[in-house]
Amino acid sequence: MAAKSFDMIVIGAGPGGYVAAIRGAQLGLNVAVIEREHLGGICLNWGCIPTKALLRSAEVYHLMERAKDFGLSADKIGYDMDAVVKRSRGVAKQLTSGVAHLLKKNKVTVIMGEATIPSKGKVTVKTEKGSEELTAKNIVLATGARARNLPGLEADGERVWSYRHALQPPHKPKKLLVIGSGAIGIEFASFFNTLGAETTVVEVMDRVLPVEDEEVSKFAKKQFEKQGMTIREKTTVTKLDRKSDKVIATLEAGGKSETLEVDTVISAVGIVGNTEGLGLEALGVTVDRTHVVVDEYCRTGVDGLYAIGDIAGAPWLAHKASHEGVMVAELIAGQHAHPIKPGSIAGCTYCHPQVASVGMTEAKAKEAGFEVKVGRFPFMGNGKAIALGEPEGFVKTVFDAKTGELLGAHMIGAEVTELIQGYVVGRQLETTEEDLMNTVFPHPTLSEMMHESVLDAYGRAIHY
Ligand SMILES: Cc1cc2nc3c(=O)[nH]c(=O)nc-3n(C[C@H](O)[C@H](O)[C@H](O)COP(=O)(O)OP(=O)(O)OC[C@H]3O[C@@H](n4cnc5c(N)ncnc54)[C@H](O)[C@@H]3O)c2cc1C
Repeated sequence: MAAKSFDMIVIGAGPGGYVAAIRGAQLGLNVAVIEREHLGGICLNWGCIPTKALLRSAEVYHLMERAKDFGLSADKIGYDMDAVVKRSRGVAKQLTSGVAHLLKKNKVTVIMGEATIPSKGKVTVKTEKGSEELTAKNIVLATGARARNLPGLEADGERVWSYRHALQPPHKPKKLLVIGSGAIGIEFASFFNTLGAETTVVEVMDRVLPVEDEEVSKFAKKQFEKQGMTIREKTTVTKLDRKSDKVIATLEAGGKSETLEVDTVISAVGIVGNTEGLGLEALGVTVDRTHVVVDEYCRTGVDGLYAIGDIAGAPWLAHKASHEGVMVAELIAGQHAHPIKPGSIAGCTYCHPQVASVGMTEAKAKEAGFEVKVGRFPFMGNGKAIALGEPEGFVKTVFDAKTGELLGAHMIGAEVTELIQGYVVGRQLETTEEDLMNTVFPHPTLSEMMHESVLDAYGRAIHY
């Protein structure tokens, strides 16, 4: 049978791949997307979305526990873990069905199977029914990533979990060790801790959420400890002794070794790109530490072969993957494509309290040689935050003292994952302190803190 021919073949239907496919189809390309597991990829099935559904249950539970603070009463507060997980899986399913619908609406050919690239411009797909040969002038790799397994700390799905196991927990952890305090580790720590697990977080770096601004890490640590978590920084887990009902973890810090007995471990020590088995070596694609090396337009250096999203490296975020998907589709369709500005990609962590940031931390800005002006504003000074019963947190802004450019913004507290986009738009529009100061923010909103933080950087804060 002759090979089916397309203008663009996308391998992987995560937020990178399915978005690239839809944009390509919108621009009149004949597009196929190939997926070996679920439409929507990690994000919709095992990442962003189901974790947020779990965290929402934890948030509501936490608010119910605080009912008295709001003049309410709630007796016999409890939860059913199976029902919590069922809701999370239902939310994921609803969204993946939505992706199927969108691909169909845009007339994208969807092929369920495992793809390889036997040679330039050719794709072989192993499907349930056999093998299909396809050709295309342009191939977009969007195969994503999976959990990193460190030797000795490998997830087994019983007592030691990766994020996949933690999303469908086989038991309810009573004593939990989370290895790694990046976004994934901290979100699960927050979820299980809120639901009553005695939780210890171990971080090898000198602070939790190590990519965030130092002040945010420090504040987050205090809040997590207030909620009953144990935070161990500058500590390494060197061994996991697995028994049928428990795990004895060896922790090393400052040259000293100790053991910690828990019933569950979540390993959240990073991710590795899905680069194997695609035929990349033979094509001459450069892979560096499990990620495909690309230029600012996501070109791999092999004619007609692009890589987007997690497989193309940090930041490992769904919105980065989608944006690259749109850019590559536009490039292939002959449009003027806009490369992504890495400093304008916000990072959000949906723990309690939430954390969000964009651009440079104060330390990074100074390291880069900027003379900075820094503004801060506490949640305690904001009317809406007090009315919501969420007085913990702050907004920090970092400006270039010479030009007034907003170099970075860092927030911790209620709903900051929604607020950060205000600063992202500001950075995209290359806004300065003056534009931000002259902007009118609605009252009463949490966003007023964003205004006040900017004013504070220039000694003009009103409510602080
Ligand atoms: C627990 C967790 C929580 C997260 N939370 C957030 C969050 O809140 N916000 C955020 O921005 N990001 C979050 N992320 C990260 C986010 O999920 C990823 O950045 C995003 O999914 C990357 O998209 P992608 O399209 O590059 O790859 P993926 O979503 O990984 O999709 C790749 C797809 O390719 C398929 N595939 C792989 N190889 C082949 C092959 N050979 N043939 C056919 N198909 C193949 C895979 O099955 C998969 O469906 C989270 C991740 C995890 C694990």
